[in-house]
Amino acid sequence: MTFDYDLIVIGAGSGGVRAARVAASHGAKVAIAEEFRVGGTCVIRGCVPKKLYVLASRFRDEFEDAAGFGWRVGDISFDWPALVAAKEKEITRLSNLYAETLANSGVELIRARATLTDPNGVRFSNGGSARAGHILISTGGAPVLAPHIPGIEFGISSNEIFDLPKFPQRLLIVGAGYIAVEFASVFARLGAKVDLAYRADLPLRGFDDDLRARLADALRAAGVEHRAGALPTRVTKCVGGLEVEMSDGAPLTVDCLLVATGRRPMTQNLGLEAAGVALRENGAVAVDEYSRTNVESIYAVGDVTDRINLTPVAIREGQAFADSVFGATPTTINYEHTPSAVFTTPEIGTVGLTEAQALARHGAVDIYETQFRPMRATLSGRAERVYMKLIVDGANERVLGAHIFGPEAGEMAQLVAIALRMGATKGDFDATMAVHPTMAEELVTMRAPARRLGTRTNSA
Ligand code: NDP
Repeated sequence: MTFDYDLIVIGAGSGGVRAARVAASHGAKVAIAEEFRVGGTCVIRGCVPKKLYVLASRFRDEFEDAAGFGWRVGDISFDWPALVAAKEKEITRLSNLYAETLANSGVELIRARATLTDPNGVRFSNGGSARAGHILISTGGAPVLAPHIPGIEFGISSNEIFDLPKFPQRLLIVGAGYIAVEFASVFARLGAKVDLAYRADLPLRGFDDDLRARLADALRAAGVEHRAGALPTRVTKCVGGLEVEMSDGAPLTVDCLLVATGRRPMTQNLGLEAAGVALRENGAVAVDEYSRTNVESIYAVGDVTDRINLTPVAIREGQAFADSVFGATPTTINYEHTPSAVFTTPEIGTVGLTEAQALARHGAVDIYETQFRPMRATLSGRAERVYMKLIVDGANERVLGAHIFGPEAGEMAQLVAIALRMGATKGDFDATMAVHPTMAEELVTMRAPARRLGTRTNSA
C-alpha cells in the first residue's frame, strides 16, 4: 500500500509537536494537523500564560516586602489589559517558534481539523484528505463545566479567563484542583475578591495532607474566601454580573464564575469509531506502554490518553513513540517520580509518594519535616512559613517522597526528583553538603524523624 505520509499527527500540542519533529528526524515523511494555534494547551492557554500571570501576581508581595529592606515604593496600580497584551505577544512568539521548528524539521503543517476515516485515512476540514502508515492522536483535553446546574453555561473555563476584556473584581472559582487554586492565588493578588467553592474539606485532593492544609491557610491569608463543602446550585445573569445560589445557602454576586472542575480527553468527533479505536470508560484513548491503541497503525500520546496530564509527560510520550516507531529504539516511559508543582504563592513542589500512600505501600515509614521562616520574611515582616517533608522507607531508608511548600518549591522539586529517581536514601541526603543560606539546604539538614509510622518487621 502506498501512503501520502509515514505519519500524520493530529494535534500540534506539546506531545504532538515533539513526536512529529523526532519522527521527521528519523527520516519519516510527516504532516501535523492543527485546527487552532500551534503549541496546544500548554503554550496557548495553559502552563505558559498561567506562569506569566503568576509572575505578574507576585509583584504585589514584592512591593509590600520591599519596605522592610529600605525601599520606598510609591503608589502602585495594576493594568489588566497591559498584562493580557504582553501575554498575547509572548504566546504568539512561542507559537510561531513552534511552527518554525516544525518547518525546519521538514514537517508539513496542515492548518485544519483532522478526522479519521479508517485506520490509515484522515479527512481535513479544508476539504483535503490523506493516507498515512501511522496516525498519532495528540488532541489533548478540554475543560469540563461541572456541576451540571442551571446556568453553569454562564461560567467560563481556564480557556477564557486569560483574555477577559475586563478585570473581574469579584470572582467565584469552583473546584480545588491545580487550576482552581492557581487562579485563586493569582486573582487574589491581582486585586480581585475571590471565593473558592469546592466539595472536599481541603483543596488539592490527592496531594499530601500537610501541604493541603498549609495551602488552604496561605490562600486564606491572601484574601481567598474558602467555601469548603459548598457548590453552586443555580447561576443567573444580573445587572453587571452573575447571581450564584450556593448549596450552603449563602448566595454570591460576582463578575465572573470560573469553573475549574477538571478536564476530559478530546476524543469526540475525531472519527475514532470509524477507525475502530477503543476508548476507556472515561473517554480517553486506550493505549499500551508504547502508546499504541488497539488499532496497529494508530497511536496516542498526552492528555487524550489521560495517564499523567502534564506537559513534560506528553513530551516524553511523544519522543518515546517516535523513537519506538521510526527510530528502531523501542522505548517505554517510567512514570514513577514524576515531579509536579502547583504555582500558587507560595508554591507547592512535590515528588514521590504522599505520607498516606507511602504508609499503605511500605508499611513502615519515617517522616522528617521542617518548618521555618524564610530569611526574606525576617525583614519584610510577612507571616510566612516554609514547610518541607521527606517520607522515608522504614525498612531501607530510601526517600519515597519529598513535599515542599514555599517560594520556588517547583524549582526544588525538579532537583530533588533526580535524587529520588536514583534511589537516594536519607543517608545520601544527610551526606550532601548544604548550600548556605538557602531554603533548599533544609532538605539535607533534617536530622531526627518527626514521626515513625507503621509496623516494623525488623529493627529499622
Ligand atoms: P483537577 O483534576 O486537578 O481538579 C478538579 C477539581 O474539580 C477537583 O477539586 C474536583 O474535586 C473538582 N470537581 C470535579 N468534578 C466536580 C463536580 N462534578 N462538582 C464539583 N467539583 C468537581 O483538574 P484541573 O481542572 O484543576 O486541572 C486539570 C489537569 O491539568 C490537572 O489534573 C493537571 O494534570 C493539569 N494541570 C497541571 C498544572 C501544573 O502542573 N501546575 C496546572 C494546571 C493544570 P474533588 O477533588 O472533590 O474530586
